[in-house]
Amino acid sequence: MQTKTTVLFPLLLTVLVQLTAVAVAQSDTATAHKAAATALLNSNNTGAAHLACPATIGPIATANSPAGPGRAGGPPAGPGAAKGGGRGPGVAPPKENWYAEGGQVFDNLYLLTTKVNSAWSVKTSEGIILIDTLFGYAAQEAIIDGMKKSGLDPADIKYIIVSHAHGDHDGSVKYLQDTYHPRVIMGAKDWELSAREANPPQRDIDASDGQKLTLGDTTVTIYITPGHTAGTLSVLVPVKDHGQPHVAMEWGGTALGGATSKEMLESYISNAKRFRDISDGLGADVIIGNHTEYNDALNRFERTKARKAGEPNPWIVGKREVQNYLTVVEECAKSWLAISNGRP
Ligand SMILES: [Zn+2]
Repeated sequence: MQTKTTVLFPLLLTVLVQLTAVAVAQSDTATAHKAAATALLNSNNTGAAHLACPATIGPIATANSPAGPGRAGGPPAGPGAAKGGGRGPGVAPPKENWYAEGGQVFDNLYLLTTKVNSAWSVKTSEGIILIDTLFGYAAQEAIIDGMKKSGLDPADIKYIIVSHAHGDHDGSVKYLQDTYHPRVIMGAKDWELSAREANPPQRDIDASDGQKLTLGDTTVTIYITPGHTAGTLSVLVPVKDHGQPHVAMEWGGTALGGATSKEMLESYISNAKRFRDISDGLGADVIIGNHTEYNDALNRFERTKARKAGEPNPWIVGKREVQNYLTVVEECAKSWLAISNGRP
């Protein structure tokens, strides 16, 4: 005959498994994940959450901004910014609607910006690596003139890394290719995406995951982190502040919306976690982004200009904040995924 223990043990185990399942289900809801993101918010990541988290959670979830995943945070479409997201010569919107001043933020890193989007110029001993290119209409005044104002020569652009093939990031690639002939690196899937646009960039280098791009004394590391688009690239950039080394992290595609597929959400989640671990391993302690809103870049730049000798660099936020930033966007994606799995 069976002892009491052999009868009771399987029963207890079943109850325990069921209780655990209930607990997991309760924490794996859209509300719980959004709350987990919200708990970490501050000026280093609020804008990222604004574009990545659902604004409302219910039977009909809404994205947190007018921008869907397709045209994240682009400026109001001007006449030239129609389908191609502003790629190509087109007619630019009035300058006062988009122009913002950028400049140097580290010994070797320069912000090239509009009100909405940021690109970055990495100065090396052998030329310049440009990360993203803004809308096409901003090529002259934000990229080219922006570089010249900081004493950089756009003819020195040797590489362009494109975070993803949306017009607010790849809009000036074709113009810069035609003018300065740099090599251009983009995710293979995003080259395919860009080829469908009007006046597309000329396909060049397919990024590989973990690719180390070395130019002179500087090595930028590139990771393929699909989610916002299928070929989104995220990068880690070594920077120096008065000679002191730091590592800047850019999560290359941030915004999510109700139209983002489950497959892409799952990829976004696993890649945010993976890139968080990689960033941690490399000691990333600076957040850069490709939308000014993500980490309050325009205010941060104003603080950079006002910085006095001995004051900290406003872009150095510390390793914990870099980790939190990637946790916030991961939790936002988990919130969207829970909604699509019917767990508000
Ligand atoms: Zn985008």
